[in-house]
Amino acid sequence: MNYKTNIKYRKEVLKKLLNIIIIHENEIIQALYDDFKKPAFEAVLTETNYVITELKDTIKNIKKWGKPKMVLPSIVNFPSLDYVYKEPYGKVLIIAPWNYPFQLALCPLVSAIAAGNQVVLKPSELTPHTSAVITKIITKTFAVNHVEVIEGGIEVSQRLLAKRWDYIFFTGSVPVGKIVAKAAAANLTPVTLELGGKNPCIIHETANLKLAAKRIVWGKFINAGQTCIAPDYLLVHNDIKTEFVEFLKKEITLAYSAKPETSPDFARIINSKNWARLVQMIEPEKVIFGGQTNEPTQYIAPTLIEETELDTPIMKEEIFGPLLPILSYKSDADLHTIISRYEKPLSLYVFTKNNVFAEKIIQDYSFGGGCINDTVIHFSNKRLPFGGVGHSGIGAYHGKLSFDTFSHKKAIVKKAYWLDLPMRYAPYKDKLTTIKKLLKWV
Ligand code: NAD
Repeated sequence: MNYKTNIKYRKEVLKKLLNIIIIHENEIIQALYDDFKKPAFEAVLTETNYVITELKDTIKNIKKWGKPKMVLPSIVNFPSLDYVYKEPYGKVLIIAPWNYPFQLALCPLVSAIAAGNQVVLKPSELTPHTSAVITKIITKTFAVNHVEVIEGGIEVSQRLLAKRWDYIFFTGSVPVGKIVAKAAAANLTPVTLELGGKNPCIIHETANLKLAAKRIVWGKFINAGQTCIAPDYLLVHNDIKTEFVEFLKKEITLAYSAKPETSPDFARIINSKNWARLVQMIEPEKVIFGGQTNEPTQYIAPTLIEETELDTPIMKEEIFGPLLPILSYKSDADLHTIISRYEKPLSLYVFTKNNVFAEKIIQDYSFGGGCINDTVIHFSNKRLPFGGVGHSGIGAYHGKLSFDTFSHKKAIVKKAYWLDLPMRYAPYKDKLTTIKKLLKWV
């Protein structure tokens, strides 16, 4: 079957994928738990259900998204009919990270298939249980020359990157993003790079402090802080800082109890390397809440850290764990000094009742996307583009934009024979004045 041209076939195979995922949903949830104790609720909300919803939306709209789109013709070409055709790129390589190992592998795959491509998917080696279920699901759904899963670590990834692809979709860290970009450049292969960064979260003095604390605690500690769009650090207005910290402490306890280690709703750090990386970021004298760690279980408590400096380990790189540094600010200038010290972040959050302030932040800073008075949830609207800018990424996806990401947009002008205006043809003698007038008019 020609999946490149046959949209009906693509739709059928996506329906098959949907059914197989639904059949294996419990297995996926179990694999995510086995990999890093991801709570079932979070697995459904952020992984299986997310993919199922994306699949349903794609199946519903694939015909419409794949159709040539008529656009208004240019008067200079009169008479013509103008179209944008969507053409699959061809062979697509998708490299996925471990933190949302099912969703971040499957969502790009669904769109790449919908757009008519062949796919090789390399899931993360750090979540072997989930990668095994992905392989099983894909093998049951697709012919191997249509979609293939190749499991493995850095070496496998580099071997794949050394080959020539028609498109590469990478989700992961900034340093590896640079390696991917370099490999792609060798063959002028287009890329989407979904990367990370240090995401600021500003709490203005007008914010609803209780609700802000609740929403920040949820967005920061879901997946144990191992979320690319989690707030990385807080910038709290000096006047409300003490009160706000108390709200944060209360919300952490409400969510995960006084002993988060025993909570079924709090995940673990993915591996001992990341656990050690995070532990060395903790300066005990700055811990104002939490701070407990347990190496054998790779546990780190939801931790609040009072921070005043920017040269400390925790403020140097993306945290990607359940440590939340709290800095204070007094003026817009303080905000500027801190935020502009880092590369453009993937997300930025503002909690305020002052619309002028919120609008100013949106206008003043460049970042991938974000929320006013919430965290993380912009990810869930398929009508919003999801992606970074500068060092936090290249390109964006979700919903129809994902289909477009994996399609080359081919411009076609269909010209009629019934009229052929002579003006553009040589010899140009005596035509210059007329063409200048005409071009002014169009
Ligand atoms: P990572 O960059 O270490 O790994 C991602 C993938 O690249 C894995 O499949 C891995 O096998 C492969 N890889 C690792 N090192 C490589 C190398 N040297 N050469 C070639 N391939 C290599 O990232 P991670 O630890 O899996 O994920 C965490 C990072 O991903 C964080 O920085 C986070 O912000 C980012 N992230 C971004 C998004 C997003 O949508 N923007 C989503 C999730 C995670």
